[in-house]
Amino acid sequence: MGAIWQVFGTDAHGMTMSLLQACDAIALVPRDGSVALKPNLVLASAPEAGAVTHPGVLSGCIEYFRACGVQNISVIESSWVGDKTLRAMRTAGYDEVCKRYDVPFFDLKADKVRTVQTAVGPMALCARALDAGLLVDLPVLKGHCQTRMTCALKNLKGCIPDREKRRFHAMGLTKPIAALGAALRPGLVVVDSICGDLCFEEGGTPVQTNRMYAGTDAVQIDAYGCALMGLDLDEVPYVRLAQEYGAGTAHWSEDDLVLLNEPNDAEPYSPPTGTVARLTRGVHESQACSACFASLVRALYASGDASGKNIYIGQGWRGRELDGLGVGRCCAGAKTCVMGCPPTAEAIAQAL
Ligand code: SF4
Repeated sequence: MGAIWQVFGTDAHGMTMSLLQACDAIALVPRDGSVALKPNLVLASAPEAGAVTHPGVLSGCIEYFRACGVQNISVIESSWVGDKTLRAMRTAGYDEVCKRYDVPFFDLKADKVRTVQTAVGPMALCARALDAGLLVDLPVLKGHCQTRMTCALKNLKGCIPDREKRRFHAMGLTKPIAALGAALRPGLVVVDSICGDLCFEEGGTPVQTNRMYAGTDAVQIDAYGCALMGLDLDEVPYVRLAQEYGAGTAHWSEDDLVLLNEPNDAEPYSPPTGTVARLTRGVHESQACSACFASLVRALYASGDASGKNIYIGQGWRGRELDGLGVGRCCAGAKTCVMGCPPTAEAIAQAL
């Protein structure tokens, strides 16, 4: 199993640089090879809404690979059927990043297409994704109304033409997403989990997680993403199926995690609004780190109604005896505590 590097904070550019340095990303670029950056620009939306990859992730990648001497860097993406990629690109602030670093952006809706054999039969893929020396997958970890979660594997859907996207939906998403992951196998994945949406791929209910993580196995990255969102792998069947199709491994353990800093190095969490506020009503929060609070929010969302439960979270409860469920090692004095710093949403969901 590969390592999963993890960093907490709010500076997407700096966090991305740290992750790439830590995992020695330059070693993944083939000699004289190109680097194609594939963010999530599913629709025209500001990154703060929790749907699209922060532009700082893009600039961090470009600056890192440039400093390592890579000249051939591009950004590739195709928004969902119904939105214009270039409109999404401008709304997310990518035009400014691409201009600043003089890096081309290619709308894959206009790209050449090649048909390749996959586990579910012939599939049409965009040539720029197939031909990248190093394909760098830059997804957002977020909820999805059909597949429960979307991260590294599903983000690759932006590498197929619109007619193929429609066919994916007709096929029920699970099998074609898994097969696409095996067909493209990105060499590096850098996940933007700074404020991914809780429930929908379009954004609108962001959860301030202040986390980014990276690895070289898209399946493992998604399996870990499920745990962070409080989801069992059975609830996101394309992850195990991708493993079956040869896209990677769905196993991860705490030993795989390499922490570059501590969760409490990040900014305090933003005051919750809307759905998040409703879910956390009654939670006793005191100086909770964003990553910890986000794990709790996702667990509450995944496990349904938790009203009537006495839940404590945050550094302000350290050393105190607490009559209820404690979340994170700061609340070790609770009657029952989900240990971890931060604990995964999956572990909290089980305790709930
Ligand atoms: S356990 Fe405490 S220090 Fe660790 S992430 Fe949670 S609130 Fe922060």
